[in-house]
Order: sequence, then C-alpha cells, then structure tokens
Amino acid sequence: MKSYGSSEELFLRAKKVVPGGVHSPVRSFRSVGGTPVFFQAAKGPLLTDVSGKEYLDYCLSFGPLLLGHRDPEVEEVVRETASLAWSFGAAEPYSLELAEWIVSRIPWVEKIRFVNSGTEAVMSALRVARAATGRNKILKFDGCYHGHLDSLLVKAGSGLAGEASSDSAGIGSELIGNTLVLPLDDESAVAELFAREGKNIAVLVIEPLPANYGLLVQRKEFLQKIVEIARSHGALVLFDEVISGFRVGLRGMSGELGIRPDLVTYGKIIGGGFPVGAYAGRADLLDLVAPQGPVYQAGTLSASPFGMRAGLATLVKCERENVYSVLEERTKRLTDGLLAIFRKYDPDSDWSVTAHSSLFWFHRSTPSPIRTVDSIPNGHKEAFANVFHLLLTEGIYLAPSGYEVGFTSLAHTSEILEKTFDLAEKAFKKNKV
Ligand SMILES: *Cc1c(COP(=O)(O)O)cnc(C)c1O
Repeated sequence: MKSYGSSEELFLRAKKVVPGGVHSPVRSFRSVGGTPVFFQAAKGPLLTDVSGKEYLDYCLSFGPLLLGHRDPEVEEVVRETASLAWSFGAAEPYSLELAEWIVSRIPWVEKIRFVNSGTEAVMSALRVARAATGRNKILKFDGCYHGHLDSLLVKAGSGLAGEASSDSAGIGSELIGNTLVLPLDDESAVAELFAREGKNIAVLVIEPLPANYGLLVQRKEFLQKIVEIARSHGALVLFDEVISGFRVGLRGMSGELGIRPDLVTYGKIIGGGFPVGAYAGRADLLDLVAPQGPVYQAGTLSASPFGMRAGLATLVKCERENVYSVLEERTKRLTDGLLAIFRKYDPDSDWSVTAHSSLFWFHRSTPSPIRTVDSIPNGHKEAFANVFHLLLTEGIYLAPSGYEVGFTSLAHTSEILEKTFDLAEKAFKKNKV
C-alpha cells in the first residue's frame, strides 16, 4: 500500500487546504477531541488506517454499509460495472431494475426518483409537497436531521411555539420563515399548531426513527396521532427514512409501524456505499416532477450505474439472507456485551443503551426512555468522549460523536463480536476511566 504519513501529518496538511481538514464536520473529531484517524482501506468489519493499524468499524460510513465494507457479492457487481460504463447521462436499464425492485416491495412507493444524496432527496420531496398542496409551510421536529438544506437546518426558536431559528450561519430568515419546529413526543403541541396554522402547512416531515441526535425512539401512538392530525388538515406526510430505510427492514420504519407516508426519502443503504438518494411515494405526487410535471429537479450524475447496481446487489442480498433478523440478534449481543463491560469498569457513569434493529446508542441511564433532545442526560458528550478514545486506542472505531448512533453489519460475525469484547476489556483494564 502507498505510504501517506501519519494521521497527524495528514491532518495538518488537510487543514491548510480544506475547512477544518475534513469534508463533513463530524469526521473532524471536534466533538470527542484529538486528531481524526485517516483511513486508507476497508474490508468487511475492518478499517485500516494510514499506519496499517486495524479497527473494528461500528460507524460504517454513518450507516450505508449494511453488509460491511466491500461485500464480496457487491464488489463483484461494482467491478463489472467499472468495465461497462461509469456514467451515461442518458436512459439505461440499471436504475430501472432498482426502481422496479423497490416499487414491487414497498406498497407506498408507487414511483421513485433517484438523486445523489439524502439532502437532495429531502429538498426535492419538499418541493413536490409545496407544489401539490399550494402551501408554503413545513413542520419539522427538534432533534430530527434531514440533511443540510437551508429550510430544514433549523432548531426550535424561543418564543412562539413552532417558531424556528437558524442552526447555521448563512441562512437568511426568509429561508426558514416557512419552517415550523416542534419537540418530538408531544402530540398535543402538534394538534395546537395545526389548529392555528393547519391551512398553511404543506407537509409534516419527520424521521420515523430519529437517529441523528442520539437514538430517540418514538412512541408508535405519537407517530400515528401526528400523521392523523396532519392529514385531517390537508397536509402531506413525509417520512425521512434516509437512515432507517432498508436498515430496520426492507420496508423501513414505515413498514414496521404500519403507517403509509405520502412521500418518503431514502439514502445511505440504497446506494450500497455509493452516493445515492431517492424520493418516492404516491404516483400522483411523483408525477408532478419534471419532465412529467411542473416541479423541476435534475442531476448530471443522478442514477449512476455504480450506485444503482451496488444498491440493487445490496438489497437483493438483504432480502435473500434475511439480514434484518440476523443483525437485530447480533446488535443485541453486541450491546449487552459492551454494556456489561462499561458497567464493570466505569460504574460511576451509570451506562445504558438504546438500540433498535441494527442501530445502537450508548448513554447514561435515565428514569424513562429518551425520546426528546431535552431528556439527553447532562455530561453525555464528555462521558462518551472518554469511552470513545479508550476503545479507539485498542482498535474499535465508533462514530466520533456522542450524538451519532452506532451500526452493525452482516460482516460483524460472532467472531468479530467476541473480538470486540476482548478489545474493550483490554481497553478498560489498561486505562481505568
Ligand atoms: C444522513 C441523513 C440525511 C442526509 O443525507 P446526506 O446523504 O448526508 O445528504 C437526511 N436525513 C436523514 C434522516 C439522514 O440520516
């Protein structure tokens, strides 16, 4: 392998030419402290850094790699694709195969349009919702992430319930003036807001499994109720399943809950590790999109053959191997095992874990399940940072922030889980918290 120098050297160089040295903020280790590890290769559950050290990967590119890195079946398809075409900018059969496969399995996906990221998918779906309803306002929930589009990069503002304030510099108030924000887990706040603003709200957008601010598993009754309220006021329902879609099951969280969204967004897993996003849903809504309808949306590299074919190979394998029940069981073993170790060596931190399917999130114990941003215990960030660095030193890589969830993949076999426990024990023994 080529020699690149140490992570420290590379980070110094990177900071000179790239803002913060990284191309997406969480990668910088800002939240946990220290220098980000620079990786040069990956296979299965393993990452290899630029010095040749190996890590067991529980970040998995923040979710896309449900089968692990370079799954052999997917890799074969990717290699074959490299010898067929890299991009056409024209009609081709590969995106059709992926679209048909998804439409045939998810009843509320009647039509689908592929884009290049989750952000783009959400942005486009909102445009459709506004066009369909002739309304301008959007309701989102505090603690849900929908990508970095201006209108959704907001947090709850002070003052009037529902008011939003910008969560980033550079976003003019006119860009968020139509965004309303409410806390999760509070159906009466939703009812009150709709009573006041209902006729102006085009769409209610929510992560049905909020997994971008810790793992804030919602009550089914809350989700059922808010969908019912939105519909009774003529608003559409957009489930942002960029992280949960094809991870908690083939039909995502919508399938698990038995709730049909009008619009749904996908990303991450749908591209098998390549940049793909999608927005989908009712045919009458998707038919509003150009060239069929008046809502413009386009993409030079959209439906790239790599993403389409890697995505399909991934989903086909997930279905065939019943990956979801395997992963759920392994995730339970992983979190039980790690929790026992955390509690044994770090009793003062009172560790607990929230897990759903193959997503997990360690945090301090709380009297009741954590469903809102406000109920995340104080000191969480610092407690996580300690454990993160202990594990990192021994070769376990978690997402470098206490507000990101962890993932398992099909490549995380029993043997890998055992190895994880051994490394974690070693880490704590060496280095009492
Ligand atoms: C990751 C994510 C996005 C953004 O997707 P990108 O591909 O990073 O633009 C949007 N919504 C949810 C729920 C996500 O998890």
